[in-house]
Amino acid sequence: ITSGTSTLAYIDNGFGSPSSPLSHPSRAKGMVPKGYVGPDVQVEAAWQRVKGLLDAIAAAKESGNEELQASLSLTVYSHLQTLSSLSPSTFYSLLLSHLPVLMPFVYTPVVGAACKDWYGAIGHTGLSTGVYIDGFSSTRSSMVSVLSTYKEAHPEVEAIVVTDGERILGLGDLGVHGMGIPVGKLHLYTACGGIDPAKCLPVTMDLGCNVDAIREAPGYMGTRRGRDLSADEFDAVMEDFMEAAMEVFGRNTLIQFEDFGNKNAFRLLENWKDRSTSFNDDIQGTASVVVGGLLASLGLTEGIDRLADHTFLFLGAGEAGVGIAELLAYAIRQETGCTALESRANINLVDSKGLVTSARDNLQHHKLPFAHDRESAPASFEESVKLLNPTAIIGVSATPDTFTAPILSHMCGTTPNPVVFALSNPTSQAECTASQAYAWTGGACVFASGSPFDPVSVNGSLKVPGQGNNAYVFPGIGLGAIAGGARSVTAKDMYTAAVALAGERG
Ligand code: NAP
Ligand code: MN
Repeated sequence: ITSGTSTLAYIDNGFGSPSSPLSHPSRAKGMVPKGYVGPDVQVEAAWQRVKGLLDAIAAAKESGNEELQASLSLTVYSHLQTLSSLSPSTFYSLLLSHLPVLMPFVYTPVVGAACKDWYGAIGHTGLSTGVYIDGFSSTRSSMVSVLSTYKEAHPEVEAIVVTDGERILGLGDLGVHGMGIPVGKLHLYTACGGIDPAKCLPVTMDLGCNVDAIREAPGYMGTRRGRDLSADEFDAVMEDFMEAAMEVFGRNTLIQFEDFGNKNAFRLLENWKDRSTSFNDDIQGTASVVVGGLLASLGLTEGIDRLADHTFLFLGAGEAGVGIAELLAYAIRQETGCTALESRANINLVDSKGLVTSARDNLQHHKLPFAHDRESAPASFEESVKLLNPTAIIGVSATPDTFTAPILSHMCGTTPNPVVFALSNPTSQAECTASQAYAWTGGACVFASGSPFDPVSVNGSLKVPGQGNNAYVFPGIGLGAIAGGARSVTAKDMYTAAVALAGERG
């Protein structure tokens, strides 16, 4: 660990020198670099070690020992992070050759537990990757200075994932322990998008933490201060960061905003979407993957052949909910040529106070386009289901046990194949489980979840639940933006990705 300036901590990400084969120019073409394929014997040895742990996890799961399962899962996470630091080529070879089984251990759900229990416990030292920026005391020039120091060792950075740790998955404010998310996202930039890790930079803006137990814990590495910046102050710090990042790494550097709290996320995106090559994964990446999933589901729902035939009801009207709703309306316009107003008519949102309607006071700005005129405004999701008879429900509320048996059986009474997307992460926050959804609909629903669920046997047939996770989209969006030298990322780009994803349905 070296110190860029007195106010900024800079931790080398261990990806080797600029001349390493990992940063070969062929990477720009989006091919997995030859330099990344570690010697087979090392990769095999690493796999045997991980496989032993995976077998032990399976046995713990079988015997119902959740504590052991969780602790062994964190061991796998820790082992993989160590490997990524010590031998990136072995790590990426391993990840690429066993992606479906290893993805949950570098990404959701285990990354959630890692942010909660691992980043705090080991205090980020040694193995952790990325740049932390103290948002309270840094100036634009000190940010330029620390990023320039980083650039000396990693001159080719083209993709940054930045968080402030305020809304990590569905786990809330984890302060600087949220660093696990940009690190995990960028592992997938490489494993799924073929982007050279030497081009990838995880950043955590330390803007405080409102959870006393995290902030006051002995090993907490961030600033021991609440999130007390006003919106204007937040905007000014992010302006300094964005300008500094583009000055050091170039105007077209891709900057992915990740897991910012929703009081800032929409404004941050609005401020930067035309002035930088940036997108917000929680708002737009999620939207793209979910619209892709909905397009793909059209072949599976009897009587519903177009998005415009659906009645959509969302549980959750935050970044994911409104992001999906907006892109869905865009997709309906492409499908039917209708007006913006018409395209939103069958898209309804429920938030923590109930159905979003025009009669509600003080609605946040992002909810207004979906605040329809209604005679009644039920306070619960279940009553909203009974009022609107949705054909598709989309859970992005981070509240488990909210897609209940009465709700799903009501849907079965009004549509043959309800679409049930329980998208909240990690697994503990999902609105319902795969086995619940299949059991309560007699196997008739089209189900997807944000974090993976095991296949479920229903009436003798095996149902393999789909995973509706933005991981299917953001590495490709990142690659496309970098390879094309994009100056901005647009709704059309996100829709194009959704259509391409739907085309992958087997
Ligand atoms: P967010 O911006 O904080 O929004 C959360 C929304 O849920 C808010 O509208 C909130 O209502 C609502 N809510 C909270 N408690 C509720 C309750 N008891 N009943 C009804 N609504 C409730 O968060 P987000 O970024 O949208 O993320 C939400 C969840 O989606 C997280 O678990 C996240 O992991 C998941 N997600 C999944 C993916 C994926 O790829 N599968 C992608 C992105 C997000 P108020 O507006 O009234 O506060
Ligand atoms: Mn996210």
